[in-house]
Amino acid sequence: MILQQALRDQQAAFGNFFNPALKARYPRFKRKDGRQSIRLTKAAFSYRDGEITIAKTKTPLPIRWSRPLPCAPSSITLSRDRAGRYFISCLCDVTPEVLPVTPKMTGIDLGLSDLFITSEGMKSGNPRHLKRYEAKLAYLQRRLAKKQKGSKNRAKARNKVARLHAKIADCRRDAIHKATRTLVNENQVLCVESLNIVGMIKNRSLAKSISDAGWGEFVRQLEYKAEWAGRQLVTVSQWLPSSKICHGCGHKVEKLPLSQRHWHCDGCGQAIDRDINAARNIRTAGLAGLACGATGAGAAA
Ligand SMILES: [Zn+2]
Repeated sequence: MILQQALRDQQAAFGNFFNPALKARYPRFKRKDGRQSIRLTKAAFSYRDGEITIAKTKTPLPIRWSRPLPCAPSSITLSRDRAGRYFISCLCDVTPEVLPVTPKMTGIDLGLSDLFITSEGMKSGNPRHLKRYEAKLAYLQRRLAKKQKGSKNRAKARNKVARLHAKIADCRRDAIHKATRTLVNENQVLCVESLNIVGMIKNRSLAKSISDAGWGEFVRQLEYKAEWAGRQLVTVSQWLPSSKICHGCGHKVEKLPLSQRHWHCDGCGQAIDRDINAARNIRTAGLAGLACGATGAGAAA
């Protein structure tokens, strides 16, 4: 049963690989270390009274649910991550709840000192999860490097490193989930800059902070949450000089180094906060694009 499913998954993987639009990698061979997972379809498990039992086993799985299931799942995936934790994901077919329409529209600028800044002047702060645990991680990694290859103590040390990595990832994901949820709940239209994250991460000096901030995940979550809630996500060209143009009068400064967080506009004399100004320009550009009939992710052009 599981082999059948694995074969189907493999077929899908090759399908993705040969589809040029998806740019998928060549499927990897199975591995004994790292993340393990199996997928079970309807015939391979049963769901009764809120409990899941795998076919040919007698006792239900001892699951700590993160939330109740909305309906019986059509397939489940059991997985074990690098840190040795077990997870179960259930695939349920539900219609997402469309939120009541609100008149609010916002522009969102993604940053480093703050994860995001809205055109209303809300600064989120950036928890910098990796930074917080960096010293501890380095310490554990040093200890791991000193252990003899193949030894039990090495395996234990490796597990400690993996657990810390998992913890950092969990903190980051949780923070982003909360932020995107609030933004989608409160706004009907959300404007963001389209990101060239791969290009930006090539800029060595920023790479660590950018991947730590989780911009890509942030936009991904905004996208699907907006769609589920019946909200509109508008992306604005990344080439818009959103930081350099004064939102008040349209005056553009020629040079604005990244370190300069505040500037004075020569056109209208306003004192300008770099990030809030950028978020306002993104909002204006997004709404202009929307008025021209551009929608959703297609507005990037
Ligand atoms: Zn100005």
